[in-house]
Amino acid sequence: PDPSLRPERLPEDGDRALRPQALEDFVGQAEARANLRVFIESAKMRGEAMDHTLFHGPPGLGKTTLAQIMARELGVGFRMTSGPVLARPGDLAAILTNLEPRDVLFIDEIHRLSPVVEEVLYPAMEDFALDLVIGEGPAARTVRIDLQPFTLVGATTRLGLLTTPLRDRFGIPTRLQFYTEDELFRIVWRGAGLLGVEADEAGCREIARRARGTPRIAGRLLRRVVDFALVEAGGRISRELADRALTRLGVDNIGLDGADRRYLTLVAENYGGGPVGVETIAAALSEPRDAIEEVIEPYLLQQGLIQRTPRGRMLASRAWRHLGLEAPRQPGQ
Ligand code: ADP
Repeated sequence: PDPSLRPERLPEDGDRALRPQALEDFVGQAEARANLRVFIESAKMRGEAMDHTLFHGPPGLGKTTLAQIMARELGVGFRMTSGPVLARPGDLAAILTNLEPRDVLFIDEIHRLSPVVEEVLYPAMEDFALDLVIGEGPAARTVRIDLQPFTLVGATTRLGLLTTPLRDRFGIPTRLQFYTEDELFRIVWRGAGLLGVEADEAGCREIARRARGTPRIAGRLLRRVVDFALVEAGGRISRELADRALTRLGVDNIGLDGADRRYLTLVAENYGGGPVGVETIAAALSEPRDAIEEVIEPYLLQQGLIQRTPRGRMLASRAWRHLGLEAPRQPGQ
């Protein structure tokens, strides 16, 4: 499978050109955007740090982008790190003590913070304070250091893996949804303009329709289609060109990629459509369970291709139709 089609962040993303800079330019997520607008304005009127905000949802939906936009709209600095990078409490303490008043600190993959680092975060979030332990053994004592007020923006693809105390300390929990075809169309259309390529409406719509509900994938597909357009179509993106390019990239007519289809085919052909446990699926596909649950399944669920049951995953009738296979008759039907 082509890794460029997966929604995870890749080092070669280089998508700074396409990243919206202001809340106005951020397409979709209407509810989240409207609420953020109010909380940003209110924080500015009060002259205080905005409340801690948690973005959760599948990769590539705009969590990082929204955090950057928040900092810009608040007129404060932006610092970015991630859960796995913060190995020791001192790593986080160093960042916290260097924040300017009301800065936004963005922690990606916050569900992967180690417990000792998370402990540092609690008083920081609650009281803007750092509890340092000085000395060892019976002579050890705790010293409290005051921090500048700041806004923590956490992002996670797995809300369920966050500890309750951490989750409870976010005043503004926000769930990001998959984008509609129309929203993705506006993103692709704007992207084509920013990249300076000639693209007609039907061409952009075809890319949007097959972008798996995800702006990051829309951006990547647009870039790949631009490559095909330059080499094979005089630089012009039409519906035919987009269709041909996307099919060659392994993106099917409803936007599923190779990994999605391998998942569906496995459950259909090896497990009679399920129910089958996620561990079994992960082992059979040689993919980590996390990748299955964070990346592949959310979109298949949202599209009504699979169902989650207490006994495992099951194919929905739409998946059988999409695979061109006959669903087995259920007992009693
Ligand atoms: P996440 O942090 O959720 O994984 P990002 O914020 O990094 O996702 O967004 C992935 C890419 O998709 C970004 O490069 C950005 O350009 C683009 N993007 C995300 N949301 C939008 C949006 N609402 N409008 C336009 N582009 C977007």
